[in-house]
Amino acid sequence: MSALPGRVVLLGHPVSHSLSPTFQNAALRRASLPLTYEAMDIAPDELAFAASLLRANNAAGNVTVPHKESFAALCDTLSPIAARVGAVNTFWVDDGALVGDNTDVGGFEQAIAQSFGAEREWPTMALIGAGGAAAAVVAAAERWTGSRVAVWSRNRARAERLAERFPHAQCAESLEHALADAALVVHATPLGLRAADALPVPVQSLPVRACVFDLVYVRGETAWVHAARAAGHQAADGLGMLIAQGALSFERWFGQVPDREAMWAAVRE
Ligand code: NAP
Repeated sequence: MSALPGRVVLLGHPVSHSLSPTFQNAALRRASLPLTYEAMDIAPDELAFAASLLRANNAAGNVTVPHKESFAALCDTLSPIAARVGAVNTFWVDDGALVGDNTDVGGFEQAIAQSFGAEREWPTMALIGAGGAAAAVVAAAERWTGSRVAVWSRNRARAERLAERFPHAQCAESLEHALADAALVVHATPLGLRAADALPVPVQSLPVRACVFDLVYVRGETAWVHAARAAGHQAADGLGMLIAQGALSFERWFGQVPDREAMWAAVRE
């Protein structure tokens, strides 16, 4: 984008708990950009009207739960990766057209490389969950040579629909089948957001050398990440992915790399 966007927003419902304004505003201040990143709580039936206003205001921003799929249908243009995932988490306006992109895919890839080493290869992945975030994970693995993904979800029909869209993915018959021989176990459901939640996968069921990545993040890391690490696994929560997808969004909006240290520092505070 050549000119600055009119405003930068996050669309979600609910949205008040989001960390994105904290670290995006730190990056905006660091870059001396005269904008404030604002969270907007938009109900599903208001989304189409909001999209038309954002287009008219030359806005840019992010989209979060529950709007990622429905916002994709409102965009005039989708990036190839947003079209592949079927969901948009980043948008901007280009010459009057609303453009949708997906930086969850790149954010996941970067977080995996940062957490476990950029040189690591993942021939087999077990993926727990079959929603929009899971689709971004499957799309990321599609870019890894020879990687196979076994998808398991409590809703088998949804897991089948996701796996059918990607030749390198298959719907697992059971959690045990999904986990068998998995080098990487990825969790993409909301389990762990609340302290009372069960662990998404019992740690004794994890393959011995599997690395564990939890898309969920809470203050002080999730119980699953703590338990997996205590059982000897390398494990990371979703905070690194959140910052990475946000940094990639910032690059799309402003054509410059944000100060990731400033973003991390704002979140740690
Ligand atoms: P989504 O589209 O609503 O999908 C949620 C998935 O989790 C579905 O497969 C759903 O199954 C399953 N699920 C929901 N509640 C469950 C429960 N109590 N037990 C077992 N499975 C359950 O949500 P999403 O956009 O994929 O996001 C999933 C989670 O990923 C979010 O809660 C968020 O914490 C995390 N996330 C993190 C990042 C990051 O940057 N770190 C980015 C995106 C998402 P059903 O179809 O049966 O409901």
